[in-house]
Amino acid sequence: MTRRPLVAGNWKMNGLRASLEEIEAMGAAYDDALRARAELIVCPPATLIAVARDSAARGGLGLGGQDCHASASGAHTGDISAEMLKDAGASYVIVGHSERRSDHGETDADVQAKAAAALRAGLTPIICVGETRAEREAGDALSIVGAQIEGSLPADAPPYIVVAYEPVWAIGTGLTPTTEDVAEMHAFARERIEERLGGGKSGDVRILYGGSVKPSNARELMHVANVDGALVGGASLTAKDFIGVASAY
Ligand code: PGA
Repeated sequence: MTRRPLVAGNWKMNGLRASLEEIEAMGAAYDDALRARAELIVCPPATLIAVARDSAARGGLGLGGQDCHASASGAHTGDISAEMLKDAGASYVIVGHSERRSDHGETDADVQAKAAAALRAGLTPIICVGETRAEREAGDALSIVGAQIEGSLPADAPPYIVVAYEPVWAIGTGLTPTTEDVAEMHAFARERIEERLGGGKSGDVRILYGGSVKPSNARELMHVANVDGALVGGASLTAKDFIGVASAY
């Protein structure tokens, strides 16, 4: 069981073709030494995946989508399938991000169906879970995340899936949980992933921490037990910050 750290950049609804410069710069800074220590991927808006394909490949960076539909094709205006993301050059897709859950009312069942669609298309899903501030204050963080894991992971998922723990109150706020809270949640998440998938698979599942990760706190957060990388929003938009985070490894 060796889990290769994964640092994934979630650009959200940011980035135009000019942002390719940042992907080029990330690739240039992603040298052999860093590559030996961690895997780096960028999840730009879907409009940029095919555009970024060559730059990302040159720099040794992977690409991912930020969401996919649960169906492979059909009458779903405005939606994008996992097949399309794969065809454009993605190898990963984020599903169940809290902004999708809140902006689009996505449920655990929706997220599970999207993760299954990603797997069918040959993409690795990064399945997001995390409690709100009110849920943490009520002492419910573990039970909420446990239920999200149970509901959002396909029961037959392979061990190469990725789970991202992102406390909603830490996303884009500059706030982060204590390292003790992160350690508690990640250990608990791995137990619940084992209950869901069985067969000892959870030992290979990478569990990322996300929420206000930046170069100045990455080292501390990334070295907590059971943290296998980061899902990075704001600090993934520039090569300087993103490589700064990845350099925690
Ligand atoms: P943030 O976002 O790093 O800007 O807090 C993380 C995320 O939403 O994935």
